[in-house]
Amino acid sequence: MSNYKLRAHHGLCIQFFEGKGYSDSFTSNMSNVINNINNDSYIQVVTNKDVICNGCPNLENDVCNSQHKVGEIDKKVLTLCGFKENEIIKAKDFFQRVNEKIIKANKLKEVCKNCEWLYICGKNKV
Ligand code: SF4
Repeated sequence: MSNYKLRAHHGLCIQFFEGKGYSDSFTSNMSNVINNINNDSYIQVVTNKDVICNGCPNLENDVCNSQHKVGEIDKKVLTLCGFKENEIIKAKDFFQRVNEKIIKANKLKEVCKNCEWLYICGKNKV
């Protein structure tokens, strides 16, 4: 059993990841995280630095340099999915709920409207 600290909005990014990102270290770290999370994993849902941020060039002194923007997206995901900050939940349930409450509910475009990557995630979904 493994435990992963994950920003709430990364529950969306992970589901649409196609190998693109901020740098080679970012995409390689994100690929590793995605490959390592499985049905036995647990997610701690956070709104600050997580396992994906660890490989990101935008992380400065352990804080995202777009924290204001991404923190807002995290909060929207928490609210729509009914997660509590720092809640620990089975990975399968975490991704299922994000999928149902945001992606299938057609709320991706609204939730991620300020994200530069929406053109990828929104391709067939919005
Ligand atoms: S942009 Fe910010 S929230 Fe996104 S992975 Fe990088 S440090 Fe984390």
